[in-house]
Amino acid sequence: MTKQLIFASHNAGKIKEIRSLLKPMGVEVLSADEADLPETPETGETFAQNAALKATAAAAASGLPALADDSGLCVHALKNAPGVLTARYAQKCGGYEAAFADLLKNLVGKKDQTAHFACVIALAFPNGSVKTYEGRCDGQIVPPRGADGFGFDPVFEPKGYQQTFAELPADVKNRISHRGRAMRAFLADFETLIET
Ligand code: IMP
Repeated sequence: MTKQLIFASHNAGKIKEIRSLLKPMGVEVLSADEADLPETPETGETFAQNAALKATAAAAASGLPALADDSGLCVHALKNAPGVLTARYAQKCGGYEAAFADLLKNLVGKKDQTAHFACVIALAFPNGSVKTYEGRCDGQIVPPRGADGFGFDPVFEPKGYQQTFAELPADVKNRISHRGRAMRAFLADFETLIET
């Protein structure tokens, strides 16, 4: 199998992370920008559909295996909203601070304050085949605390912890997070794929 892989993302942080994870396996990671790939619209209704759409388009355009991810926050009392629309929800609110306030307002009086983060990583091949790997982290929505991390980290307290994702050290977040879990499932499988 080729040792080159496209990562269909424009997010510098995610690209750096995947590059350092795959380097020990001798795999060179090319970003969407480096491979000159256009942005694929996220028109799917599930995280898996969106990740697969992005990975499949990148593999078809580049002729190389391609990886893509999709993630978001699912709030149980709000019928799992914002879900696949998480990034767009924050934009619509006018930024994260406003989105935190809106989320907390929507949960006032609700007995259930639980939520989970979900992440799906898709690996697509130029022949059209796709594999997906899922990760989930359960917790609850709380008033914002902490300065680290990104996105909805300050309002998400993972189950079993008294700190939010924005207060926890990065290595702890990586160990328990939706993205960390999906990434480890992908890495375990990918290791066997490149050995064959
Ligand atoms: P995407 O997977 O890059 O489309 O991201 C979806 C959105 O979900 C992000 O813009 C964040 O708002 C949110 N999100 C996904 N993962 C995390 C996380 O680990 N912490 C905080 N917010 C996240």
